[in-house]
Amino acid sequence: MNGTVYKSTGSWYTVKAEDGAFYECRIKGKFRTQNIKSTNPIAVGDHVTFSLENIGDETVGVISEIGERKNYIIRKSVKLSKQTHIIAANLDQVFLLITLNNPTTFTSFIDRFLVTAEAYDIPVVLLFNKMDVYDTDEVAEVKYLMDLYRKIGYPCVELAAKEGKNVDLVKDLMKDKTSMFSGHSGVGKSTLVNALEPGLRLKTAEISEQHLQGQHTTTFAEMYDLSFGARIIDTPGIKGFGIVDMEPDEIGDYFPEFFELKSQCKFNNCLHMDEPKCAIKQALENDQIAWSRYRSYVQMITGEEENYRTDNYRE
Ligand code: GDP
Ligand code: ZN
Repeated sequence: MNGTVYKSTGSWYTVKAEDGAFYECRIKGKFRTQNIKSTNPIAVGDHVTFSLENIGDETVGVISEIGERKNYIIRKSVKLSKQTHIIAANLDQVFLLITLNNPTTFTSFIDRFLVTAEAYDIPVVLLFNKMDVYDTDEVAEVKYLMDLYRKIGYPCVELAAKEGKNVDLVKDLMKDKTSMFSGHSGVGKSTLVNALEPGLRLKTAEISEQHLQGQHTTTFAEMYDLSFGARIIDTPGIKGFGIVDMEPDEIGDYFPEFFELKSQCKFNNCLHMDEPKCAIKQALENDQIAWSRYRSYVQMITGEEENYRTDNYRE
């Protein structure tokens, strides 16, 4: 039988078969792990093949095969250095909730998130939440940001989850897909999920209430079917993605607005920093590339950490 992993505890996997029924499964002794050194061979979202076997008077599923992943997100264990934990696989999209204040979402954070998602090959939708509380300047800032990110190719939605405003738009985007919600604690993830599916309580929320105390512990994701034909992956304590190891010359590949310009730089290994005749720097001067994006790029190259909000939205 074929199915999708909805939950894992490390040794047991809850698999939803194609017929819609759920089965408790284990892994067959030796298992091919797709060359990823991870603490868990199978993650939520994995497509698996399993068969039912009688063990004593119990029938359990035994997983024999795992389908190729279209993408997956990981968390590196600090304690067990270099050990990787696969949090979830086969995501169709991630929604990043953004608020201008309470809490502030800095563009540096948004850009890091987007770069990581590009590296993971996961589409991102930006949700600007709490639109109901913004003053004129803040609304202008949101418009500026939406314009900036839409131009680069990221869908953006204005949202007021608490009032239910535009929640239907999010529903439409989620239909028949597997989604995940990210964003700082307090941006409104649980409020949104509750508006989408009243009564569903996420671990994401419970952890944020504990101020991410449990962040270092191994946490398992879980998938839920929502009533309107969507799947959601709940991952406790994830405000962003795990850091992906990237070489400096790789980072520019994850800025979509650099794609077409890169080939016009004088040097084909141009890092777009101090090199002469750099097409990216030229585009920056011509306002074809946003300063906030370039600043995020430089930070990622140099490894600096600085939080900032874009400051040119009122020009
Ligand atoms: P989470 O930590 O991301 O799950 O955030 P919560 O859903 O717990 O929301 C944090 C706070 O923001 C709560 O007090 C919510 O009522 C409030 N909140 C969430 N969405 C909105 C919104 O659209 N507008 C306003 N004004 N408040 C919101
Ligand atoms: Zn360049």
